[in-house]
Amino acid sequence: MIKPLSLFIFNLSKSNIAAQFKFASSALPQFSSEKYGVKRKSFGVIQPSDIDYFKTILSEERVVTDESDVLPFNIDWIKNCRGQSKVVLKPKTTEEVSKILSYCNSKRLAVCPQGGNTGLVGGSVPVFDEIVLNFNLMNNIISLDEISGALVCESGCVLENLDNYVRDHNLIMPLDLGAKGSCHIGGNISTNAGGLRLLRYGNLHGSVLGLEAVKADGTILDCLRTLKKDNTGYHLKHLFIGSEGTLGVVTKVAIHCPALPKAVSLGFFGVKNFENILELYKRAKSSLGEILSAFEMADNESISSTVKNLKLSNPISDYPFYVLVETHGSDEVHDSEKLSRFLSEGMDSGLILDGTVTSEPAKMKNIWNIRESIAGAGLLEGYTFKYDVSIPLRNYYELVELLRKRLRDHTAKVYGYGHVGDGNIHINVIVPEYTKQLYSILEPYIFEEVAKFRGSISAEHGVGFRKPQFIHYSKDESALQLMRDMKKSMDPNGILNPYKVLPDVPNI
Ligand code: FAD
Repeated sequence: MIKPLSLFIFNLSKSNIAAQFKFASSALPQFSSEKYGVKRKSFGVIQPSDIDYFKTILSEERVVTDESDVLPFNIDWIKNCRGQSKVVLKPKTTEEVSKILSYCNSKRLAVCPQGGNTGLVGGSVPVFDEIVLNFNLMNNIISLDEISGALVCESGCVLENLDNYVRDHNLIMPLDLGAKGSCHIGGNISTNAGGLRLLRYGNLHGSVLGLEAVKADGTILDCLRTLKKDNTGYHLKHLFIGSEGTLGVVTKVAIHCPALPKAVSLGFFGVKNFENILELYKRAKSSLGEILSAFEMADNESISSTVKNLKLSNPISDYPFYVLVETHGSDEVHDSEKLSRFLSEGMDSGLILDGTVTSEPAKMKNIWNIRESIAGAGLLEGYTFKYDVSIPLRNYYELVELLRKRLRDHTAKVYGYGHVGDGNIHINVIVPEYTKQLYSILEPYIFEEVAKFRGSISAEHGVGFRKPQFIHYSKDESALQLMRDMKKSMDPNGILNPYKVLPDVPNI
């Protein structure tokens, strides 16, 4: 018996009750293969003898085959995609992963690697009957060097747990995102997750010092160094950062953790229009300089719907746009003075209509909670079409306006919010329910517009299952051919996360 979907609760942040989203509807999402018209490739079909073999590698309870237990691993967080896997494997060691992949490769059984299943492009769930390789039980912290800041851990460690651990040693994780209570560091690396503080701490290609990965044929690749400098040939770790489980699976990670800032301050401001946000960003860079750690924006629709749907309270009143500015520094008085001055100068010049600045942890948490909850707030109203694009800052908000115009005859809400500091805007289109007509109004239109701005159709969420057919809007054919060549060389049978990232890769 399948449990009704309404029973699944996605706890994204343990410290954040409001971000626990219950599915409003008890209806199961349509199978991805039917919804998006995809044909199964000629992989092997799992047999009882395969299950028996997996039980010789893993203990019985780590080979999950009960239909209702497998169901949550088949559905993605945003309820856009649903696969048809019959089995979930939960390894505890790299050697187990290696044996599983070596066996699957020899039998041509397709595999879908899965971390915390918070990915937003359908990459973490199977499309057909791929075996789910889940990393929940590979969650040990191996070492922390407090002098260099190098943390070594297994790939299934939850980001928030790692952050709590390193904070006890006066360090922080170099990335932070709304899904931190569920996403794994292995998933973060595989998607090259950006998040809220990329502006300050850079992306994972810079912070990941080394990693261990298992190739499709079961070969264990040891690049688990903790060095900042290592120019001994090709920088192989980068192949796994952002390749979404299509070139190998990440089993261990070495990552650089920056020092815990002694002083953190947060400003939340109401702004009249997007032009003023750009001007404020310019001023923030020059007046806050090295302490600026986040510069985020959200439009009125995003904030007002989130606050209403999740019964949160907005510390300032209703404005067309909101800006959230965070500083990480070493002197609390000095830093919060700087931010308060930024607020008062912004108000004097009319760029800021109203605002609040705080260094109190509880107040900062409330403000961040509003921002982090936007991603899922629309799930309570219906179906969410979700986009994550990079656009030059001058044109950053235009796409939202274009979409509102295009959807004016439909019941739809369009939220625009994102990481201004990285030129990355998220657009959520909330409709009562998914229809093919709405889908065709939105796609490929939105990607065509992004291409006109010479933007990227995926800023930080990846390509996954939802975007391979649109990747050409951002990647040239010569680059795509090299990607296909790399895939062929590293995974010749195409068993790793098929139907994802690359368009038209035949399984050989
Ligand atoms: P999953 O969703 O399980 O998997 C994602 C992809 O990685 C899949 O293709 C999967 O096959 C692959 N994968 C997972 N683990 C491994 C592994 N060990 N080896 C190889 N491949 C693997 N993303 C951002 O970049 N920035 C944000 O600010 C952000 N905010 C979010 C806020 C919310 C509320 C939510 C729900 C999501 C958000 N995301 C954000 C998206 C998502 O959280 C990230 O993509 C995250 O990195 C995914 O991690 P995960 O462990 O959940 O991976």
